[in-house]
Amino acid sequence: MPTPKAKKQKNMRSSGRTAPELIFGNLWNFDPAPETADPKVKATYDLFIDGKWTQAKSKKRFDSINPANEKKIAEIALAGPLDVNLAYLAAGRAQKSWARTPGKERAKYLYRIARLLQDRAREFAVAETLDGGKPIKESRDFDIPMAAAHFFYHAGWADKLQYVAAGKTLEPLGVVGQVIPWNFPLLMLAWKLAPALATGNCVVIKPAETTSITALKFAEILQDAGLPPGVVNIVTGAGETGSAVIAHSLAAKVAFTGSTEVGKKIMRSLAGTDKKMTLELGGKAANIIFEDASLDQAVEGIVNGIFFNQGHVCCAGSRLLVQESVAELVISKLRTRIRMLKVGDPMDKNTDIGAINSLSQLTKIKRLVASGIKEGAKLYQPECVLPKQGYYFRPTLFTGVTQSHRVAREEIFGPVLSVLTFRTVDEAIEKANNTVYGLSAGVWTDKGARILKMAAELKAGVVWANTFNKFDPSSPFGGYKESGFGREGGRQGLLDYANLV
Ligand code: NAP
Ligand code: MG
Repeated sequence: MPTPKAKKQKNMRSSGRTAPELIFGNLWNFDPAPETADPKVKATYDLFIDGKWTQAKSKKRFDSINPANEKKIAEIALAGPLDVNLAYLAAGRAQKSWARTPGKERAKYLYRIARLLQDRAREFAVAETLDGGKPIKESRDFDIPMAAAHFFYHAGWADKLQYVAAGKTLEPLGVVGQVIPWNFPLLMLAWKLAPALATGNCVVIKPAETTSITALKFAEILQDAGLPPGVVNIVTGAGETGSAVIAHSLAAKVAFTGSTEVGKKIMRSLAGTDKKMTLELGGKAANIIFEDASLDQAVEGIVNGIFFNQGHVCCAGSRLLVQESVAELVISKLRTRIRMLKVGDPMDKNTDIGAINSLSQLTKIKRLVASGIKEGAKLYQPECVLPKQGYYFRPTLFTGVTQSHRVAREEIFGPVLSVLTFRTVDEAIEKANNTVYGLSAGVWTDKGARILKMAAELKAGVVWANTFNKFDPSSPFGGYKESGFGREGGRQGLLDYANLV
């Protein structure tokens, strides 16, 4: 006689489903758990220049919309070259006295900014999710706390710049032009501003067109912190505004995070000038699973690696390399896990995958996924109901992928994972490095010696071992090859904002 437990397991096997799927995926429908805090977003925003809200000369504005429901949230000023020039002039005026301000005093401003951001963390998290579509649990638990952590960390350095490099000290470069993308809007702003200010530079920064709101709300924090006018200037607009920020003659350095395509344009346009440059560009990271890894833990790491922030992550583990002996098992566990992901309203606290940031990004993801199907890769998507309004895409798994497929080579920047297999360590290294990019990689194995070998041989700026997507302000981040150059975070990041004397 089979025991009741054995009977239940047999039934589950015959239905082709595993226990967790029955419990979470099919039987549990969570009630909505919407976040309700007021994001305090104004209906219109001007430019933040010289410590004041300033109308754009053209008086033109553009809309910022909520990608979860396509509704307009705010109208934002469109900065042209004249506005960018005003911002640089203000930064230039502020720079001398900011550079002379003792490090201990600059640190106080940075600490104040960090604490003010912590005070308003919930409001900023809601604004970030509303404007960009990322799940509230991510903006609440990752983006905003991490942004504050960057200001705290760099506040700590501001009066210790003589200890960054042995026998030398750091002097500011002057005015820095910065352009950032839409995937981690406030966090990217923090990565850029905190080291620049700690080392005595002044800044003109442009957020991405689809996600300017938290940068503009951040201007309120700068005012509340009493930061001297002109030290940080925020100009909003699209690519043309970005070009004007990069091209301005007063910029001693430009720091850009965005696509490799625009990064290349910037390099070409700055060739022959003496501007310093940091470029943080795209990626196509390998997440490598060896047969001796803890596979359930690895599956969590794979899911986090590609579905965090809808896959809009430059260091996303978008190429899964699995050792052949465990490939079938890992893929089956992965399918089960993917079926449990909740896709939908980003403002719901249970949502795992929110909205795709913009219609143009959704179109790009669809185009690349269609190419995967056309080139013969096998597509898997769970059956989940997507909201009728807004930009959404199902978590997607491609198996049967070869290295020549576009989905294995091109950055998709969406919730799409391509699975390849390998047999030996050398094959894993060769396949992982077979890309124009080199931003990050993940290694899952029980053997410490193998981790060290892989970390030494993988051509990637960050190599995670038995984890993925872990960040810390003290840990430098940046790329190899077409993923860019320069580092953000840690001592190395400070060196990129200073002259050593
Ligand atoms: P993008 O199109 O290159 O845009 C990045 C920023 O540059 C935006 O603010 C954009 O403005 C602006 N821009 C566009 N054209 C420009 C030009 N000709 N000159 C100067 N600025 C210009 O990239 P994205 O689509 O926003 O972001 C996704 C990309 O960023 C991905 O490739 C991702 O891998 C990369 N990324 C890298 C890192 C890293 O640390 N390595 C981090 C995050 C993202 P508008 O968007 O307002 O038009
Ligand atoms: Mg928006």
